[in-house]
Amino acid sequence: MKLQRSPLQLTLFYLLFAALWILLSDSLLIWLGLDGPLQVALEILKGLVFVTITAALLYFSLNQYQHEQRRVQLHLQRNEERLAQAMDAAQEGMWDWDLKSARVFFSHRYCDMLGYTPEEFGDSQQVWRDHLHPDDRDLAIQRLEALLGERQPYYENIFRLRHRDGSYRWLHSRGQLLLDEEGRPSRFIGTSSDITQRRADEDSLRQAAAVFDSTQEGVLVTDNTRRIVHVNPAFSRITGFSAEEVLGKEPNLFKSGRHDTAFYQTLWHALDQRGSWSGEIWNRRKSGEVFPMWQCIRSIHDERGKLSHYVAVFSDISALKRSQRELDFLAHHDPLTTLPNRLLFSERIEQALQRAGRDKLRGALLLFDLDHFKIVNESLGHNIGDQLLKMIGERLAQCLAPQLTLARLGGDEFGLLSDDCASAEQASLLAQLLLDELALPFMIDGQPLFISASIGISLFPEDGDSVEQLMRNADSALFRAKSSGRQTFAFYSQDMTAIAQQRVRLESELRQALEMDQLRVHYQPIHRLDDRRMIGVEALIRWQHPQRGLVAPGEFIPIAEDSGLIGAIDAWILEHACSQMQAWRAEGSDLEFIAVNVSSRLFGRGDLGLRVEQVLRETGLDPACLELEVTESAVMDDPEHAQVILTQLRELGVRLAIDDFGTGYSSLARLKRLPVHKLKLDQSFVQGLPDDHEDAAIARAVITLGQSLGLRVLAEGIEEESQAIFLRGLGCNLGQGYWFGRPQPAEQLMSSRSTV
Ligand code: C2E
Ligand code: MG
Ligand code: MG
Repeated sequence: MKLQRSPLQLTLFYLLFAALWILLSDSLLIWLGLDGPLQVALEILKGLVFVTITAALLYFSLNQYQHEQRRVQLHLQRNEERLAQAMDAAQEGMWDWDLKSARVFFSHRYCDMLGYTPEEFGDSQQVWRDHLHPDDRDLAIQRLEALLGERQPYYENIFRLRHRDGSYRWLHSRGQLLLDEEGRPSRFIGTSSDITQRRADEDSLRQAAAVFDSTQEGVLVTDNTRRIVHVNPAFSRITGFSAEEVLGKEPNLFKSGRHDTAFYQTLWHALDQRGSWSGEIWNRRKSGEVFPMWQCIRSIHDERGKLSHYVAVFSDISALKRSQRELDFLAHHDPLTTLPNRLLFSERIEQALQRAGRDKLRGALLLFDLDHFKIVNESLGHNIGDQLLKMIGERLAQCLAPQLTLARLGGDEFGLLSDDCASAEQASLLAQLLLDELALPFMIDGQPLFISASIGISLFPEDGDSVEQLMRNADSALFRAKSSGRQTFAFYSQDMTAIAQQRVRLESELRQALEMDQLRVHYQPIHRLDDRRMIGVEALIRWQHPQRGLVAPGEFIPIAEDSGLIGAIDAWILEHACSQMQAWRAEGSDLEFIAVNVSSRLFGRGDLGLRVEQVLRETGLDPACLELEVTESAVMDDPEHAQVILTQLRELGVRLAIDDFGTGYSSLARLKRLPVHKLKLDQSFVQGLPDDHEDAAIARAVITLGQSLGLRVLAEGIEEESQAIFLRGLGCNLGQGYWFGRPQPAEQLMSSRSTV
C-alpha cells in the first residue's frame, strides 16, 4: 500500500484516532462499570494497545517515507548522471552561481575545458573573472552586471578564458537567471561550450573567402561531373564571362581549339593519377580572343575519399608572354634598325653550321662595314648617322630574300648570313648586290647621301666550323677588302677572292659586250661521214673582248646563265645564225641546216617556241633549216616539261638535236618518246677512239640506240681521220670536229669550204 498523505493529514488522522480511542475506550469502560484493579488493568491494557497501534502506524509511515526518500534520491541521482552525460556528449560545461552565497558550481566538464579539476578551479566567481582575457574582461563583466541589474531572464555571451597552459579558449555561454519568490535574482545557471576550434575554422573560412574574392587569379570550381559550381570575380574579369553565364556549364566552354585531344587526355590522366595538373593552356575569352594562361587544377575528395570537386586556379599570362616576347626581341635585336643583333646573328650562324653539317649544305657569312662612316657622323652629326643606318637596314632588308639573316652587329658593322649558298659565285653575287644597293644615294632631309661599304666573306664549312672562327675569318677578309681600296669584297681565301672578283667584273663587262657589239658567231662545219660532205654548221658564240681577245663560251656562258644575260645572248645568236643561214641560202649554198645551242636555263622557260617562231618569221628562214641543240641534262632535268617544249618546237617544223649525249642520265623510255631528230655523241667519248675500249663501247651503244630509235647520230670532237673512219664503221651518220674544221667566222668558213 502506498501511503501518500501529507503530514497534516496524518496528524489529523492520528488526532481523530487518538480522540476516538480515548472517547470510545473510556465510554466502554464506564459502560462496563468495572472498578478496582480490573479497571486499572484494562486501562493499562487500553493504553498499551493504543501505544502499540500508534507505534505500528508510526513505523509504517516512517518506513514508507524512507523508502520514498531513497527512491526519489535514486531517481535524482540517475537524472543527474544522465544530465552530466548529455552535457559531456554535447561538450557543454555547466555552471551554477548561487547569488546568495556567491558560490559558483563549475561542472567537471567546465573545469576540464580549462585544464583544471573542479577542486583546482574552486567555486568562486572571482576565479572566473581572473581567467577572462584582458580584451574581453570589461565587456563580459558589463554584460553580467547588466543581466543581474535588468534581470533579463536569458543570457548569451562569447568570451575567452585562459587555459591552464596559458592559451585562451573561446567559450560560448548560455544561461538563465532564476529569481526567488520575491522576484530577486537567486541563481544564475547555464552551460558553456568550447568554440575555439569553430572560431578558428570560421576565421580561416572567412580568410579563404576573402582570398577567393580578392585574388588576382581566376578560380573555378566544378563538381565531380565537371559542372561549374563556383567562380570568383577574377575569373569574370579574365574571361569576360559572368558567374551566371557559366554556372552549371562545363569548362570546355572556354576551349580555344589550340590543343589536340591528346593534350586534354594527358591533363585528365594527371588529375586522376596524381590529383593535380599544372601547365600552360590556351583558352578563349567571351570576346572570342584566344589567350594563354597558367593553370593549376586539383581534384578534391570528401572525407570518405570520394571525388567531390575540381578546383582550377589560373592566371592570364598573355601580358607576361607579350613582355617576354618584347624582352626577347630587345635582347636579340638592335633597337635602332630593329635588325637582329650580334647575339641573334651568332645563334643563327650556330644553327646554320649545325644544319650544314647535317644536310651537307654550304653557306656564306658576309661581314660588311661602311666606308668612312665616321666622317658622316662627325660632319653631319650622329642624328643623321643614325638615320642613315636605319635607312640602310630598311633598304637591304627589302632587297634581300627573307631566308637570309641581315644583322647590325654594332656601329656601322653589319652581317649577312646565307645558310644555303652553294658556291663562292653565289656569295659574290650577294656581296655585289649589297654593294650595288649601298651605292645608290640615300635621301636624308632632301639631300642625297652617298656611302659605300667593304665586305668580308667566309664560307662554311671550308672556312670554319665554329661561329668564332667564321666571324674571325670574315673579319680578316673584311680587313683585306678595306685595304684593297674599299667598296669591294674579299673572301677569306685569297684565290676565291680573285676568281669571284673576276667573275663579277666579267658579268658587268658581258653586259657591256652585248651593248657594244662585242659578240661574234663562229660556225663549225658538220660533215656526213660516208661522203664527207659538209651539210650543216653549228653556230658557236665568241666574245671579242677588247683586252683579252677572243673569249670561249665556256668562260662566260655560266656567268650569263647565273646573271640572266643568257636570254639576250641566245636571242642574239639565234637571230644572227638564222639570218646568216638565210644569206647563205640566198647565195645558193646547199647547206641543209644550221644548228644553234639553246641554254638549259632558257629551255626551262616557256617562251622559247614564241621566240623561235618570231626569229624565223623575221629572217624568213625555212624552219627545216634550223636545228636546235638542247643538252641531254636539260631535257632529263624535267622530262615532262621537255616533252611539251620539244613538241611545240617540232610543230614549228624545226629540227631538234640532243647535245652532249652520253653525259647525262637518259631514261630510254623517255628518250623513245622525245620528238627529236638527232643525238650528238659527246666529244669525251670520241677522244679515246678508236683504241679506247670503253669509249668504243659507248660510241657503239649510242649509235645503235640512235639507229634503233630512227635518229641520226652525230659524233662531236673528231680530231683525227681514224676516228671518222671508226665511227663511220659503227654506222654513225655525221661528224663534227677540228679534223673537219674549227669553228670560224662565216666568211672564212665559206672561203675554205671543202670536202675533206
Ligand atoms: P657544244 O654545243 O657541245 O659545242 C661543241 C664544242 O666543242 C665547241 O666548243 C667546239 O668548239 C668544240 N669542239 C668542236 N670540235 C672540237 C674538237 O675537235 N676538239 C675539241 N676539243 N673541241 C671541239 P665551244 O665553242 O667552246 O663551246 C662550248 C660550249 O658552249 C658548247 O658546247 C655549248 O654548250 C656552249 N655554247 C657555245 N655557243 C653557245 C651559244 O650560242 N648559246 C649557248 N646557250 N651555248 C653555247
Ligand atoms: Mg652544241
Ligand atoms: Mg656538245
